[in-house]
Amino acid sequence: MQQTQKGNIFIISAASGTGKTTLVSRLLKNNSDLRVSVSHTTRPPREGEQHGVHYHFVPKENFESLIEQKAFLEHANVFGNYYGTSIAAVNQLSGQGFDIILEIDVQGAEQVRRTLPESIGIFILPPSFEILASRLKSRATDSEEIIATRLAQAHYEIEQAFDFDYIVVNEDLDVAEADLLHIIRSGRLKKSAQQTFLTNLLENF
Ligand code: 5GP
Repeated sequence: MQQTQKGNIFIISAASGTGKTTLVSRLLKNNSDLRVSVSHTTRPPREGEQHGVHYHFVPKENFESLIEQKAFLEHANVFGNYYGTSIAAVNQLSGQGFDIILEIDVQGAEQVRRTLPESIGIFILPPSFEILASRLKSRATDSEEIIATRLAQAHYEIEQAFDFDYIVVNEDLDVAEADLLHIIRSGRLKKSAQQTFLTNLLENF
């Protein structure tokens, strides 16, 4: 990896069912400079989800105690469960020079923007409401009631897209992945991300 001063932080948000998790997994698979911060949640694991890989699944009391200890960069209540990004996880990855993805909801994104204004916000949009609705239904991991709540929430979440730096439409996974990669690459090419490299280069000239 080219030496960077510190990794960039990319906030990636979307209404649920937009394909955000699939896109993030693809990015991680193909980019060794990139890491995702594993969040804490009080939501029970879905089938196939592993503790410490997809989330740190913790009881509500533990989560509330972490809030009191100010262990979170941001935290929010999403669909009745707590979700949060731990400061320690982000600092560790950032210190190692990785670019970090925070796959979080719009409430969390707003908190991170305030605390870390240099972070780069990306909002992923579905091509249409109808496509989002059919993707959520075909996922079949959630009850009808949860799907209805998520759709009702989607309009509010998509309205927040105006507060993000970049908008990516996920109509075709390959195109959306390439768009995300361009954003990440351009973040890496910023002068602020290459200060150490530039200084070292000049010292040895
Ligand atoms: P899910 O339960 O489907 O995994 O996630 C529900 C929502 O919570 C998604 O929008 C997801 O991005 C968001 N989320 C996941 N982790 C975090 C987190 O650490 N903080 C916040 N604010 N939202 C999160």
